[in-house]
Amino acid sequence: MYSLTNEPNAIYPNYPICKICDRGAMTQKKVWRMSTPVVVIGFLLLIPSVLVMIFCAAAVLMSVAGIGAGAFSDSGNATAGSAFVGWFFFFVGIGAFISGIFGWLLVMKKSVLQCQQCGATITAS
Ligand SMILES: [Zn+2]
Repeated sequence: MYSLTNEPNAIYPNYPICKICDRGAMTQKKVWRMSTPVVVIGFLLLIPSVLVMIFCAAAVLMSVAGIGAGAFSDSGNATAGSAFVGWFFFFVGIGAFISGIFGWLLVMKKSVLQCQQCGATITAS
């Protein structure tokens, strides 16, 4: 996108003028904070973590309600089996939450200002 006018800042009057070319308007843009391979790794961490967290939350709720006891424990003691299953999925869920945080940190975006004329970018304050 290039402005066709020579008048500085005519199209984007509310944006600051580029300091590098002294003509282009700096418009705000969201970009990945990390490089592409790191973002891919971030999503590979984040997506399974979210799924595991949802599954664990459901499993914990089920075991709290005592419904999961029969499915996961073949012992006669339904209460102990249910509690064990509940704690097991609780800690798995915590682990998934931590790796999800790491994944989320890797896929975060940041705001930059990009020049419409020369394409220079500066980090938005
Ligand atoms: Zn510029």
